[in-house]
Amino acid sequence: MTKSLPRRQAGKIQNHRRGGGMSTQQPPPNTLAPQPELIAEKEVQVLDLGFVRLIEFMGGDLGVVRAARVSYGTGSKGEEKDRKLIAYLIKHEHMTPFEHAIFKFHIKCPIFVARQWFRHRIGSYELGSFEGSGLFEASGSGINEISGRYVEVPDEFYVPNTWRAPDSKNKQGSQATPQLDQKKCHALMEKHHQQSFSIYRQLLEAGVAREMARMVLPLSLYTQFYWTANARSLMNFIALRADAAAQWEIQQYAEAITDLFAQKMPWTWESFLSFVWEGSNPNLNAQKQKLLEISSIP
Ligand SMILES: Cc1cc2nc3c(=O)[nH]c(=O)nc-3n(C[C@H](O)[C@H](O)[C@H](O)COP(=O)(O)OP(=O)(O)OC[C@H]3O[C@@H](n4cnc5c(N)ncnc54)[C@H](O)[C@@H]3O)c2cc1C
Repeated sequence: MTKSLPRRQAGKIQNHRRGGGMSTQQPPPNTLAPQPELIAEKEVQVLDLGFVRLIEFMGGDLGVVRAARVSYGTGSKGEEKDRKLIAYLIKHEHMTPFEHAIFKFHIKCPIFVARQWFRHRIGSYELGSFEGSGLFEASGSGINEISGRYVEVPDEFYVPNTWRAPDSKNKQGSQATPQLDQKKCHALMEKHHQQSFSIYRQLLEAGVAREMARMVLPLSLYTQFYWTANARSLMNFIALRADAAAQWEIQQYAEAITDLFAQKMPWTWESFLSFVWEGSNPNLNAQKQKLLEISSIP
């Protein structure tokens, strides 16, 4: 079972502050908060029509290092020591410094994936032009999603390549099986997409408000939202959703997030894999295995 990231972490850094260790002098330049990095195009395609785009990023590995050392008024001490510090923080579950590295993503996914996603409360969400396709509205985590109350939704539906049957061992899970009539399942879904979208259009033409017409649309409809999350929350998301226990579709999104995360925070990523990741995912497990073989963590 993949363990979710621990919450026990704040004590040490706060104690340093209380202990009056903070200097009243100006901090050295490398402790200043970094500026957000605007990213034009960092997109990973997911499923048939979805994507994960990294659109803004701040902090990174060095942001974590600076946050962890702020109580000493110091910042980076060079790659070897910084990587070691990050490994130490993760290994000993001192997780608050990772909250200073921030990612903003633009996500396009089917509504049923978004519903699972929005359960992750530690992050901010912005729903695009149809507010959860108008089928639900997120709360608490500041989700921003497209609003079907204000715009007409496009006919973009997720169509799985392969239909899966219930998993024989894990009741919640599913598995590919030759027993399923793929062609039939596919045709049924196509029919439903066409019919529901046609009814949606007819309701609009009959003068029904968009916020009501959307009620006939299925969970396979694509929606879009912005999601801003810190590295700590991302690691929790990856630990839970890249694992084989999660639904296959959200696993694909978690893997896309993983790619972008590993690119932007390679030291944190290697420590996450080494000390936190215990899940089942061929790609992540292979990366972890490779890391353990070369023992690259200082
Ligand atoms: C495989 C799988 C199956 C699932 N099945 C179901 C299901 O059948 N039914 C269902 O309802 N949900 C289900 N979920 C959703 C799951 O229960 C979580 O709601 C979701 O994964 C979000 O996880 P989280 O709370 O760790 O994330 P976040 O909400 O982002 O929280 C991150 C961490 O912050 C801390 N935290 C956040 N809020 C609080 C709080 N209020 N109090 C204390 N600590 C807090 C916790 O340590 C938490 O782990 C499933 C999830 C997975 C991965």
